[in-house]
Amino acid sequence: MKTTLVWFRRDLRLMDNPALQAAASAGRVVPVFAWSPEEDGRWPPGAASRWWLHGSLAALDRALRVRGLRLVLRSGRAAEALTRLARETGATAVYFAKRYEPAARRQEEAVAAAVSNLGIEARAFAGDALFAPDSVRGREGRHYKIFTPFWNRCGELPSPEKPCGDPGRLRGVSPAPKSERLEDWRLLPSKNWGKGLSEAPEPGEETARYDLKKFLARARGYAAGRDFPALDGTSRLSPRLHFGELDVRRVWAQALPFSDPPFQKGGFLGELGWRDFGRHVLFHEPFTPERPHDGRFTEFRWRKDSAALEAWQKGMTGYPMVDAGMRELWATGLMHNRVRMIAASFLVKDLLIDWREGARWFWDTLVDADLANNTLGWQWSAGCGTDAAPFFRIFNPVEQGRRYDAEGRYVRRWVPELSQLDGRWIHAPWTAPREILERHGIVLGRDYPEPIANHALARARALAAYGASK
Ligand SMILES: Cc1cc2nc3c(=O)[nH]c(=O)nc-3n(C[C@H](O)[C@H](O)[C@H](O)COP(=O)(O)OP(=O)(O)OC[C@H]3O[C@@H](n4cnc5c(N)ncnc54)[C@H](O)[C@@H]3O)c2cc1C
Repeated sequence: MKTTLVWFRRDLRLMDNPALQAAASAGRVVPVFAWSPEEDGRWPPGAASRWWLHGSLAALDRALRVRGLRLVLRSGRAAEALTRLARETGATAVYFAKRYEPAARRQEEAVAAAVSNLGIEARAFAGDALFAPDSVRGREGRHYKIFTPFWNRCGELPSPEKPCGDPGRLRGVSPAPKSERLEDWRLLPSKNWGKGLSEAPEPGEETARYDLKKFLARARGYAAGRDFPALDGTSRLSPRLHFGELDVRRVWAQALPFSDPPFQKGGFLGELGWRDFGRHVLFHEPFTPERPHDGRFTEFRWRKDSAALEAWQKGMTGYPMVDAGMRELWATGLMHNRVRMIAASFLVKDLLIDWREGARWFWDTLVDADLANNTLGWQWSAGCGTDAAPFFRIFNPVEQGRRYDAEGRYVRRWVPELSQLDGRWIHAPWTAPREILERHGIVLGRDYPEPIANHALARARALAAYGASK
């Protein structure tokens, strides 16, 4: 009977897993995860991602044990770890799902070459995109740089494949191969993270499926509610999708009946389209995590200001909407999309700090840190990306707060110092009359910071820097 290694990567689930299903129907299965952050180049998983990965691997192992198997953990370069395990178990095939990040693609080529040298079959299955990045081509075979034509083109292609369901009975090998201990990988933060991640969701496929179910029950209200961070308006499925606890094809198929027409902008399925677009851009422009897509920004004169950067990271800028977002990030490992845009714009335009500093901080603190989406989001915010917001469109953090958090409920939740202020003052506490601040026991500069930048002046400075860079 054939024995196949199933190399889990960003598909940490048993359901809807084509590689696992194919291996299970061919014979015995050896499920393995290789921990090789050194192979991720400049983007090894950040602290919050490691925390999530720990939980997700533990959950995957538990689910496998229920079916009589266990997850084999091996550290070191994937090619070496997998060839060694293949020799130990007599496996004649390695099945895995594709990934689209540049370093992950190199890793998978190395694995395919190493196992083929031993006469072992290497088979790659569909990755975590609805439409594989290399399958969407414009006229003359070029890749897309603008979302709308990209997504329209996807609409002309065959629909995403149906999720493949349960893998059926799993048979393992005997004796079970040795595994390293998850605890020894030290994925959990060793230093005291304070309140960090104390309110993050629980990793794992089972809770992911539960979260999807809960979201579907309110998915019809998505388009109306998605921009208001105080509402439970979005799915919060991003870490589930990033780690592959849910197959994106499953989310698509189950959301279809509840969402706006799939190829329309603003609906839930359209956001999955942006996710595919991020993968498309990263696949075809692998330099974008480090360099702007728009070459005119290569020489842009960003400011170096470590005190301002630290104030932003800690949620102490004096702009409540920005600070609420940064503190939500610290506590939950997530931040609402509207607030990500506001916080990013503030860093890049009001503080004139390089978008890569922000991308790095998000990379370390987001549980959904995803190279494709993070790069797309930061380059969009900085105005230097594909299909980006123009640099001269500068978010006013006070107006954004008044528009998307009119009563201040979101700010009150994450910036408790201001919780007594009413909606009129909460987004610009420095404009509140002194007696109102006093009545609520707030002294600016003591209980909550004065704004670290004057938005009107900062805006003018940003526009001047932009003008000079052209
Ligand atoms: C500066 C910045 C950085 C970002 N960094 C990341 C990141 O590291 N990882 C990440 O997954 N998303 C990132 N995003 C995109 C977006 O903010 C998150 O995907 C979204 O907030 C996740 O919440 P949700 O699951 O409730 O989204 P929903 O609104 O429920 O959307 C469903 C899914 O669609 C995808 N999606 C939604 N919006 C976008 C988008 N704008 N671009 C690409 N995919 C999208 C996500 O996978 C999301 O889970 C970033 C956005 C910005 C502006």
